[in-house]
Amino acid sequence: MPIDLSEVPTHELMKEIQHRLDCGNKPDKRVILIGPPGCGKGTQSPRIKYEHCLCHLATGDMLRAAVAAKTPLGLEAKKAMDAGALVSDDIVVGLIEEATQQPECAKGFILDGFPRTVVQAKKLDEMLAKRGQGIDKVLDFVVPDALLVERVTGRWVHPGSGRSYHEKFAPPKVTGVDDITGEPLIKRKDDNADTLKARLAAFHSQTTPVIEHYAKKVVVLKADRPQDEVARSIAAALA
Ligand code: AMP
Repeated sequence: MPIDLSEVPTHELMKEIQHRLDCGNKPDKRVILIGPPGCGKGTQSPRIKYEHCLCHLATGDMLRAAVAAKTPLGLEAKKAMDAGALVSDDIVVGLIEEATQQPECAKGFILDGFPRTVVQAKKLDEMLAKRGQGIDKVLDFVVPDALLVERVTGRWVHPGSGRSYHEKFAPPKVTGVDDITGEPLIKRKDDNADTLKARLAAFHSQTTPVIEHYAKKVVVLKADRPQDEVARSIAAALA
């Protein structure tokens, strides 16, 4: 549905125009965020996206949308996702190949939750090399496993935007409702202590080698620190 711009305050419109002009002068950036479930990648992504004019591609969000829409791809991915296992490399590589060509990714992208295996990383590198591009930085969000259980089991998500809240650490203004849209928040089916164990095991065994694969581009972040402090470390890493 087209947006009625007459409803948008002039200062908001001017701010958006200024932002788009500033974006024209920013260098391209292709960034990977790596970290276990609940490490804060999703929380930090909107700031990075806005600051560097990038698109945010979270394979978990894309897959959940496909599951909700009951597409053939979603039906194929659902079983692995419910079990906390990884879906096939071909599915996620296909999703990323298509998504990175969208106009909103013209200045580059933030990959969140991808690549999760070395096979995915190599396929990503090949895909970018064919376009004369490459990954600039890999941000490694380090959080001790013991802290993640409380972060993940208390999480509430707005499915439309991927915005996440925490019932104790970052509650929405009104319980159960997204601050921006007023739409209901949901609990992810895989955000429970049992499935988290499988997801952490998959992370440590399959994703840790991805960090080694990109060793020269990796910046390690202490992601158990307060949000603003993590944001400052990210800003310094991407400056
Ligand atoms: P996330 O939202 O990143 O925690 O992902 C949720 C689930 O989606 C994971 O537990 C996997 O089942 C699946 N998934 C997301 N990204 C990938 C990926 N790059 N490779 C394989 N499976 C993925």
